[in-house]
Amino acid sequence: MAELKDVKGIGPKALSLLNKINILSIEDLVTHYPFRYDILERNDLSKVEDGEKITIDGKVESVPILMRFKAGLNKMNFRLVTQSGVVGVSIFNRAFLKSQLGVGAGITVIGKFDKSKNIITASDIKMGILTNKVKIEPVYHCTNGLTSKNMSTYINMALLVYGREIADYIPQEYTKKYNFLNKKTALNVIHNPSTSEKLKDVTIRLKYEELFQFMFKINYLKQQNKKKKNGLIREIDKKELNKFIKKIPFSLTNDQMKAIDEIINDLEASNRMNRLLQGDVGSGKTVVAFTGMFANYLCGYQSALMAPTEILATQHYNNLKEFLKDENINIALLTGSTSKKDKLEIYKGLKDGNINMVIGTHALIQDEVEYNNLGLVITDEQHRFGVHQRANLQNKGVKPDVLYMSATPIPRTYALTIFGDMDVSTIKERPKGRQKIDTYVKKNSEIKDVLEMIYKELKNNHQIYVIAPLIEESENSDLTTVNELREQMKLAFGELYKIDIVHGKMASGAKDLIMEQFKENKIQILISTTVVEVGVDVPNATTIVIFDADRFGLSTLHQLRGRVGRGTSKSQCILISDSDAERLKIMEREDDGFVISEEDFKLRGHGDLFGTKQSGDMTFKIASIKNDYKILLQAKKDSKEYLLNKETDEEELKKSLIASITEG
Ligand code: ADP
Ligand code: MG
Repeated sequence: MAELKDVKGIGPKALSLLNKINILSIEDLVTHYPFRYDILERNDLSKVEDGEKITIDGKVESVPILMRFKAGLNKMNFRLVTQSGVVGVSIFNRAFLKSQLGVGAGITVIGKFDKSKNIITASDIKMGILTNKVKIEPVYHCTNGLTSKNMSTYINMALLVYGREIADYIPQEYTKKYNFLNKKTALNVIHNPSTSEKLKDVTIRLKYEELFQFMFKINYLKQQNKKKKNGLIREIDKKELNKFIKKIPFSLTNDQMKAIDEIINDLEASNRMNRLLQGDVGSGKTVVAFTGMFANYLCGYQSALMAPTEILATQHYNNLKEFLKDENINIALLTGSTSKKDKLEIYKGLKDGNINMVIGTHALIQDEVEYNNLGLVITDEQHRFGVHQRANLQNKGVKPDVLYMSATPIPRTYALTIFGDMDVSTIKERPKGRQKIDTYVKKNSEIKDVLEMIYKELKNNHQIYVIAPLIEESENSDLTTVNELREQMKLAFGELYKIDIVHGKMASGAKDLIMEQFKENKIQILISTTVVEVGVDVPNATTIVIFDADRFGLSTLHQLRGRVGRGTSKSQCILISDSDAERLKIMEREDDGFVISEEDFKLRGHGDLFGTKQSGDMTFKIASIKNDYKILLQAKKDSKEYLLNKETDEEELKKSLIASITEG
């Protein structure tokens, strides 16, 4: 297939601008859908500026006067009565139309409007009046140096020349069944709709295609998984395992026990485990995962646990070491900032089997990493990794079992559809002794109250998180920034307490250092962007203050709130915002992450649940899991039927659908 640079009109500069907004191929270009449409009234003289193009219908009012010039040129003038007034029309070289332009004839004139002379210089005249009186103009997301018009031009040029080559992922039988347009025509309509009815039809068609592809992928992965009886078969020593569980310094909740049972069963079964462990923040997923790792160790296999950030990986590592301190187990930590020497050592230990368990970040899936007998792979906060990265870690072992952990509760109906290829364990119950976190919504004008609340906690030797959404270099925003916040906090508490900052753009070593100091209570107030969102566990922190709370989705707020209330002291969460109080009040009432995520789903669609940017496999170009749930269900049914249908004569399409899976 041709490349983007082959499209006529796309020079090197346009190419790099398109690349900048992630348009890398012709397919990307033609599926860069308008984010809205402007409706232009075409049939109204008063709405057209001087010199603009107009399309207008009316009735011929005067007999056309024909003038002939040299060299066969001619011109006709007549008056046209339209709904918005009478206008003069002149047109060149259409003498042959004269007989049809009798007084009273209904016609449509297309041309340029000279407002001061009240004349349209027509480029075309069509017999008959307009059927659609409006023009729908697509508007695209662009970037500096690239206009919506440019985009439209490139797209249409690409469609014109390469339209037939664009892959169509809907099998013929369904195209027929639903009377869908073919891909090229559908793309033509979505970029140049003539009526809103047609636009609606092709939108459904394109959404269906996207969801069909998505559900096919899930069904396929599930089928592959079921087919393979090639998981490891283990015989776990229950006595040893129970002895170990008894030593855990708290009693496990029923849900934790149930999850452990499910995992142990999976480990022993001949099918490969492919399980999602979902549970609200603070519900205690980690200990469940660690127990699985221990069971896997009892059978002589290695385990790997991958976390999305270094902070989290380090924390897991320290906890695991503490957790297994009585056992003679060799545990390693491997992250981007592990020294070269240590890295080589760890590679060696993983390869010769000396290391039993490894915890790390993406560093775990580098090509150099080889395992001796990897039996269990766990990824924490799984929605933050794309499918591609997950697949990568799986391929490292013989056929390791896989457990995904997620603290982002997904409403059950959606989870079953989206994670249809996985089994799900859910922890709903909270550990005993946890107190409800009090949540307050406050206005910026009430900051004095907030500072007093903070001071009270500080005096009780507790620590504080302060969350700001953006750091200083953020463009054109009046949001409170981290640095500003630090100045404010310093003014209020700087003499008595240590205040510091952690944010996403800091080097990871520096970040770790700050987190370590916060953990050791050498820092009392930690100002942060949302990097603390995932997993951080500092039980002595009892208050979290979130500025510009309206900027966050409820699920994110819930995650952030989960940073406190981890010990036995009463904790509180203060949401500061001057707007959106209605939505934020949900946080005051609700502390069940599943209920909150339902609310979020109702309000915002799936975007926030999966963290829009992080999830390579959850972003759709045109469909939305929430709004198009009906189409999703149909696509799910159809794609499954299609996958199982051996008779299909479209093996090629099946193959390309399958190929699109591994491409990520
Ligand atoms: P998450 O599910 O958010 O990952 P963690 O696994 O980090 O939660 O657990 C949160 C805290 O609760 C940890 O400090 C952990 O030791 C503690 N914890 C876990 N399970 C229990 C339990 N059954 N009883 C008491 N504390 C528990
Ligand atoms: Mg966790």
